[in-house]
Amino acid sequence: MKTYFHLTFAKINFECPYCEKPYVDSEDIYLNRCSKNKSGCTTIKCQCEMTFGMTYDITGKAVSYKIGKR
Ligand SMILES: [Zn+2]
Repeated sequence: MKTYFHLTFAKINFECPYCEKPYVDSEDIYLNRCSKNKSGCTTIKCQCEMTFGMTYDITGKAVSYKIGKR
């Protein structure tokens, strides 16, 4: 039970790839944004002024990645 919770939490947990600010998609906000996009990804403007992409991989884990533009 504990392990299950931990895994679930880890799956919706990601961080800004630039400043490492932690994000938790606890209300499926980003999940919904991803599923609305044809690409299956969404972009997030972080408070560090950088924009990064995030998506859910095939295991359902939230992943963030750098976008190659400033
Ligand atoms: Zn950031």
